[in-house]
Amino acid sequence: MAQVIADRREIDFVLHEQFDVSRLSKYEKFSEFTRKTADMIISEARTLAIKEILPTLKIGDEIGCRYENGNVTVPAEFKRAWNQLIQGGWFAPCQNPEWGGQGMPRLLHVMAQNYLIGANMSLLMVAGLNQGAGHIIERFGSEEQKHLYLEKIYTGHWSGTMALTESECGSNLGDLSTAAVKNEDGSYSLTGNKIFISGGDHDMTDNIIHLVLARIQGAPEGSRGISLFVVPKFHVNEDGTLSERNDIVCTGIEEKMGLHGSPTCSMALGSNGRCTGTLVGEENKGLAMMFLMMNEARLMVGAQALSCASSAYLYALNYARTRIQGPPISGKDRASVAIIKHPDVRRMLLTMKCYTEGMRSLLGYIANLEDQKIVSDNNEEKERYQNLIEILTPVGKGYVTDRAVDVCNMAIQVFGGYGYTSEYPVEQLLRDVRITTIYEGTNGIQAMDLLGRKLQMKNMKLFFDLKDEIQKTVSEAREFDSLSALAGRVENALHTLCQAVEKMDQSARGEAVLQAYTFAGLLLEAAGDVIMAWMMLWRAIISQKKTDSGVEGKGAEFYDGQLKSAEFFIRSVLPVTLGKMVSMMDLCSAAIDISDTSFGGK
Ligand SMILES: Cc1cc2nc3c(=O)[nH]c(=O)nc-3n(C[C@H](O)[C@H](O)[C@H](O)COP(=O)(O)OP(=O)(O)OC[C@H]3O[C@@H](n4cnc5c(N)ncnc54)[C@H](O)[C@@H]3O)c2cc1C
Repeated sequence: MAQVIADRREIDFVLHEQFDVSRLSKYEKFSEFTRKTADMIISEARTLAIKEILPTLKIGDEIGCRYENGNVTVPAEFKRAWNQLIQGGWFAPCQNPEWGGQGMPRLLHVMAQNYLIGANMSLLMVAGLNQGAGHIIERFGSEEQKHLYLEKIYTGHWSGTMALTESECGSNLGDLSTAAVKNEDGSYSLTGNKIFISGGDHDMTDNIIHLVLARIQGAPEGSRGISLFVVPKFHVNEDGTLSERNDIVCTGIEEKMGLHGSPTCSMALGSNGRCTGTLVGEENKGLAMMFLMMNEARLMVGAQALSCASSAYLYALNYARTRIQGPPISGKDRASVAIIKHPDVRRMLLTMKCYTEGMRSLLGYIANLEDQKIVSDNNEEKERYQNLIEILTPVGKGYVTDRAVDVCNMAIQVFGGYGYTSEYPVEQLLRDVRITTIYEGTNGIQAMDLLGRKLQMKNMKLFFDLKDEIQKTVSEAREFDSLSALAGRVENALHTLCQAVEKMDQSARGEAVLQAYTFAGLLLEAAGDVIMAWMMLWRAIISQKKTDSGVEGKGAEFYDGQLKSAEFFIRSVLPVTLGKMVSMMDLCSAAIDISDTSFGGK
């Protein structure tokens, strides 16, 4: 079966036709990233992904990670691929070149990630932690911490982790109990146990730099008393060489549903009383610093999910073109045909196409906002970009990961029984992608973030900024005869979303608070659907212009595919969204009223 991850034509469409990435090259910060360079970078990512990383996907799943005597080993092929990621500079593509980053626009990186992560999410998930861990040190760390760790992390010679979760605290980090005590030399001694730490131990790098949340002795209870520490696996001498082993040890790895190539480690800190680390930033500001980095981390999870969905869609599409089964539903010729000819399979494929493309555009849009924020010198404009990033982040994480699971699930359905077997990669994609709805803040927490924080911030200004952006696209689409009816439907859905948002916001601040939070997930889903419709209408405008300009051949087929996606999603999916909003606004309180014992089961 052909090895596929992402459709290059699709990636180019988002990069060049929807967001025009090379426009950023007129700013000094991104001057190197011309169209030619952008194309070269995407080609490099694609080749690396298909030739070197994709062959490790099944190996990671079947062999996985091994734990023995406090050490974790990964398949040898992973080490080779890791080294190739080092050579390609893929550990911190968007970070500061002064410290080993590449200074790349985020938009370009998100599209390259589509290939790299899609080739092996387990490996790229561990590798992806470097960017976040390094960014925290770059932004909040001392000069000494930067000097000791940053370049090695950004270049991938050492890896990084985020050690937050404990057995008694996952979603609510305010309850964590890992303790830190200040030493005379200014360092801190840590004791405690962390669980579920991705990349907590492995043999791909000589050193691992853990970013650990802990509570300093005497600090306030709850989230106001949490601090952040750098805790290296091996201490580092001033000249960068490795010193003695620190007392942070992996005590086991999880057996799990998917992501077998990524070690999910339990970590013991200070079992021998010798775990030391250094404080990042100020005492008790650990969670606040983590929150500042959260958008980035959540969007990376969205990118993981999109990559799996994109692969799953293309595998299903290729299979549907070749699998012969049953005659067509109508017509005189009763010979069996490829399943792509059957209407139900076509519906599944087009649904998958819509979500995959809409999600790619959404993540590209958010990344582009980040880039524009960097190059803009207008404070009002910067604030608007940030407002949009804030309100779209729970959608880019929560909605995208939920839909990616749906897409991977549908891919299995297209394959039929073969999809359920491990002969084809779609079952692994579903097992791997499933975690994305859980980590980096469960999707329940994303929904609460949207309803309880993002809508309430600045008196709903974030939502109104988003509404204005959607409205602009609707108005532009109305100028095309062929799109004006679709534009009307999107506008209608946007109008209903505004009513739903207002009602949910008022309820969440008033007496119906519990009912409102019961349906926070549905609000996230409905908002995500409307945003998908917006993205598809936007794509349709570009495609209609190209079609009107007389493009022919393969080009015409691509644009026709875009127009059909928009028509399908807006006419067939968006009406269901209206129903979701009706259901939400009813604020049924049965889930609140039912007593714990009436749930049954006892
Ligand atoms: C493969 C894997 C890799 C991971 N990698 C890392 C890592 O690198 N570093 C790290 O620190 N952690 C990591 N985690 C941990 C992950 O972030 C947590 O599992 C996640 O935050 C959820 O916490 P929990 O498992 O304790 O679930 P809980 O917090 O117990 O949640 C259980 C359920 O209750 C819901 N819930 C909880 N609180 C509320 C609330 N207040 N309101 C409404 N609903 C609520 C949740 O949405 C969820 O549905 C990883 C986990 C896995 C499985």
